[in-house]
Amino acid sequence: MARIVMKFGGTSVANLERIRNVARRVKREVDVGNQVAVVVSAMSGVTNQLVAWCTELSPLHDAREYDAVVATGEQVTTGLLAIALQELGVDARSWQGWQIPLRTDNAHGKARIQAIEGGELIRRMETGQVAVVAGFQGIGPDNRITTLGRGGSDTSAVALAAGLQAERCDIYTDVDGVYTTDPRIVPKARKLARIAYEEMLELASVGAKVLQTRSVELAMNERVRVRVLSSFKDELAGETEGTLVVDEDEIVEKENVSGIAYSRDEAKITVRRVPDRPGIAASIFGALNDQNVNVDMIVQNISADGTTDMTFTVGKADLPRARAALADVKPQIGYAELLEDPDVAKISVVGVGMRSHAGVANTMFRALADKAINIQVISTSEIKVSVLIGAEYTELAVRALHTAYGLDAS
Ligand code: ADP
Ligand code: ASP
Ligand code: MG
Repeated sequence: MARIVMKFGGTSVANLERIRNVARRVKREVDVGNQVAVVVSAMSGVTNQLVAWCTELSPLHDAREYDAVVATGEQVTTGLLAIALQELGVDARSWQGWQIPLRTDNAHGKARIQAIEGGELIRRMETGQVAVVAGFQGIGPDNRITTLGRGGSDTSAVALAAGLQAERCDIYTDVDGVYTTDPRIVPKARKLARIAYEEMLELASVGAKVLQTRSVELAMNERVRVRVLSSFKDELAGETEGTLVVDEDEIVEKENVSGIAYSRDEAKITVRRVPDRPGIAASIFGALNDQNVNVDMIVQNISADGTTDMTFTVGKADLPRARAALADVKPQIGYAELLEDPDVAKISVVGVGMRSHAGVANTMFRALADKAINIQVISTSEIKVSVLIGAEYTELAVRALHTAYGLDAS
């Protein structure tokens, strides 16, 4: 008998038939004597719709009201799953973030979990009641609903697993594990039996949506055993199913590159003809920081005639705020114009083996050159190389790199 957390994503609860399927799966774990907390996402497509409504009413909407709106998707699925479980004779109840309470900071729209006061929830689980918990949401210090950023139900699940000292945290999704790249765009992608926390962290942070970045960070820090597996198989998950996220030293063969990820969630901004003097970067990025806009890749051209161009990427959702922030500081900075390009994609190759192998970046540049794909911006870290390219080349680039690094399944 064990205490476990099971998390089901949007496609796994997309309609009533799938919710019934989830209920049957949960029941199987209950029947073998486990104490179960289930974390659910909204039905697939629902959160996108809710976000679109907020943005349509106001591109620079109040983040607290955004949270009040987008958190509703998960409220629906918790209630429905609890009903489906009860229908199977399983004792279950729904829990919204504020009812647990799951406390977060005040960063509406991308809040971080601070504490889970799960006393009552645990007490009820100990009586055999299944806790059906709304992912993605919590309650802030202002007593208002917060959300954890897109894909945040993964983080809810891992945090709950840590808080409940669960034996494992099973993330059920629409693929049967973590692959060398998104199996939807590279049919030759290979499933990984294990992946190191650090690699998964890096892959998630550069766009592999299979786990939210913050969930991997939490799992690594709190030593939560996370497993990614398919919600579309019917039998009880076997020990070796899916992908286990583990410590680096539990992986025997370290590849140079273990995964490739892409993201179309960023937009490129170029600030043209900025005076080339000390303090300019601080003014530009300070203004963005004040508006809570995260900047990712950055390049600065060499100076000609005392001015330079500064190019960087921000999340597409942050583009209106970035534009407004930079317009505000235009008189102080005195740049000539602001160019925006939302049609870009960031392609990244990741692997812990990069630390000890040279030539990884070069293989990437060569493979892209062979496909005549132009690189706009480059950035690197210890175990990652990323490039920004035109969005229309995303699939071509990912497939070419997958082959170039010898990752294709035979
Ligand atoms: P959920 O709704 O269950 O949270 P997501 O859509 O957030 O599911 O994440 C699962 C998706 O992640 C898959 O359908 C797949 O297209 C995508 N994905 C991207 N990179 C990878 C990868 N390396 N391995 C597996 N899936 C990936
Ligand atoms: N429903 C939220 C989203 O679509 C959270 C999640 O699915 O993890 O981002
Ligand atoms: Mg997800």
